[in-house]
Amino acid sequence: MKVGAQLLKDFMNLVFPPVCAVCRVRLDTPRQQSLCPRCFGSIGYLQRPFCRVCGMELAGEEDREYLCGECLRNPPAFYLARSLVRYEPAVQQLVRRLKYAADTSVAKGISAVIRGGDLSEFVDCDWIIPVPLHAQRHRGRGLNQATLLAGLFFPEKKKLIRSDWLFRTRNTTAQTRLSGLERRKNLVGAFTIRHGIQLEKTMVCLVDDVYTTGTTVQECATVLARHGVRGVKVLTLARVVGPQRGRVR
Ligand SMILES: [Zn+2]
Ligand SMILES: [Zn+2]
Repeated sequence: MKVGAQLLKDFMNLVFPPVCAVCRVRLDTPRQQSLCPRCFGSIGYLQRPFCRVCGMELAGEEDREYLCGECLRNPPAFYLARSLVRYEPAVQQLVRRLKYAADTSVAKGISAVIRGGDLSEFVDCDWIIPVPLHAQRHRGRGLNQATLLAGLFFPEKKKLIRSDWLFRTRNTTAQTRLSGLERRKNLVGAFTIRHGIQLEKTMVCLVDDVYTTGTTVQECATVLARHGVRGVKVLTLARVVGPQRGRVR
């Protein structure tokens, strides 16, 4: 960093002291930090072993990763899905602020969370496609949190992010109060690929904020498969685990 830039940064830190992106407590530790130790320490990274396909944490110590019952019964249209952390209070705060308040100051905090995760399974992706919002909802919120997340996941690969290739043709009912079957029905035919886009034999990384039941990414992956992709790998920041699964979002 140039001396001038560093001075400006020091000055800004003095006038607007950095605060934790979750609890807003003032940070007096290193300049780069964006989450206080308490909030960062409360974040639960998902622990292996995972279901090889959907990425659900499996009980047990085995090294060998197998398929969960759900993936055995209903093999998903995607090759694999991975999330970095559990969708618990600190992460919920970050995601909600990003999503509903268009608060981009939380981006630094999310980047800190991402740096603690493992993205090695996504190195072979040719394209990075965020799960789209319907144009109407997009206008209402001012941003698509999945597009923002894609940029935070892959700061070195911004050229591969295509946020206008997959889009939502129907403004579907919010998924929050729907059961599994209703969620699937609600989404059938809701996504489409922009005319003329060639995706044959490519590996696509589909990015979203939270993985709940996987219905949304399943529908997106089905559409991508119809366009001849080699595979779809789903990457979400967080995953709903335990009893909340199925009733959030
Ligand atoms: Zn904090
Ligand atoms: Zn599974």
